[in-house]
Amino acid sequence: MAGTPVTLKGGSLAGALEAQRERLLPCVHCGFCLPACPTYNRLGDENDSPRGRLHLMLAVVEGRLDPSSDAFQTHLDRCLGCRACETVCPSGVEYGTLLELARETATEARRPDVFSRALLTVMGSRALRALFFLGGRFMRVTGLANVAVRRLSGDGIAGKLRFALAMLSATEEAGLERHGRASGSGAWVSAADDGSSLTPSPPVGSAGVLHGCVQDGLYARINEATARTLDANGFDVRVVTRQDCCGALHAHGGDLTTARRLALRNIEAFERVGVDWVVVNAAGCGAAMKEYGVLFEGDAMEERARAFSDKVRDISELLVSAGPRVGAPVECSVAYDHPCHLMHAQGVTAEPLQVLNAVPGVDVRVVAKADECCGGAGIYGMTHPDLGARIGGDKVAAVRDTGADLACTPNPGCMMQIGAGLRMEGASGEVVHPIELLDQSYQRAGYYT
Ligand code: SF4
Ligand code: SF4
Repeated sequence: MAGTPVTLKGGSLAGALEAQRERLLPCVHCGFCLPACPTYNRLGDENDSPRGRLHLMLAVVEGRLDPSSDAFQTHLDRCLGCRACETVCPSGVEYGTLLELARETATEARRPDVFSRALLTVMGSRALRALFFLGGRFMRVTGLANVAVRRLSGDGIAGKLRFALAMLSATEEAGLERHGRASGSGAWVSAADDGSSLTPSPPVGSAGVLHGCVQDGLYARINEATARTLDANGFDVRVVTRQDCCGALHAHGGDLTTARRLALRNIEAFERVGVDWVVVNAAGCGAAMKEYGVLFEGDAMEERARAFSDKVRDISELLVSAGPRVGAPVECSVAYDHPCHLMHAQGVTAEPLQVLNAVPGVDVRVVAKADECCGGAGIYGMTHPDLGARIGGDKVAAVRDTGADLACTPNPGCMMQIGAGLRMEGASGEVVHPIELLDQSYQRAGYYT
């Protein structure tokens, strides 16, 4: 089915948004979403609130506002896409879907900046991506990224470059080995003492892991830990080749055509292997893949895309459904933050904490206002340095206030954003994914031998 033509309803300027008029109508303008919105809370401008942005979208649909106008462009662009507004909306307004359609309309009316276009081009190509991340890993392993973060200063280009390199530097592996092995909770029994089989039963199905773009390029260790922990919990983990970036970055950036092209590649790749579950360890990717059906709405691919989306699970959801097995102690404290695309877009909140509960010795401290966006939102810190710094600064302060050894969150963008903020303040800025802790715990328990 490679190369299946995709013809969606409303594919022209304003057409995509116009075709979604019915999605705009449920908004009753109650304003319940305003206090949940990080941009409205900082700027106090109705146009930077969910309700205000929906109002702008409706004005474009009804022809009262030009999509190339500064009002439409600026306020849509400032949205983080965190979807906190969806969680609190009593009318069930599908804000995330509307935002993607509005951004497509906005980018067709006015070309995005060169930097954003270049980034989307790189992420949309396997070859360019490989080269890009090779350079990133070189900067990371040689310590050049760290040196530059310490030496660079100022605003403008230097400030943006410093932030980008701090994000790269934040992808360094945390030294989990140094955290103690003595049991603090008493919940753990060693594999030898346990006397049970190391493989749980009954079998819990076959699973293929999404490699992703940033995950594959900078966090391959998390993908490997995902496969190992699934295997240790009884899943039949299968390698899925020829998969691609999930397309979330493109969808959020208004390039729905490329997002659909990438989605199609993933659907084909996972269908070829025929797994029961498509496992994702990045909240943003999981949210996008659970909505492939919406991405292909009105197209011949829609039914197939919906069947694919039905199989997508965050790694924490699958592990909790199978247990997860308790590992050996890793004595440390972590400041846990909920990724927006897990909490608000997927409704997955308890499961990552249940995964952490399977690691004896971990003291989990959920940060204050953990339901608010960290300001990551792709490259928001570079495209909106002032507002991004305010939102990110509040999150970093909340993480610091916990006094925990490590920050912990299950999404690469949030890991990089929080880690960058900590490093720019001179802290060590170690950030882990919950699966890294579970993996360390399982290694100590001898589950992989
Ligand atoms: S909470 Fe929902 S219905 Fe109320 S203003 Fe916000 S988007 Fe509209
Ligand atoms: S997605 Fe986030 S930033 Fe955008 S309107 Fe909703 S709450 Fe505000």
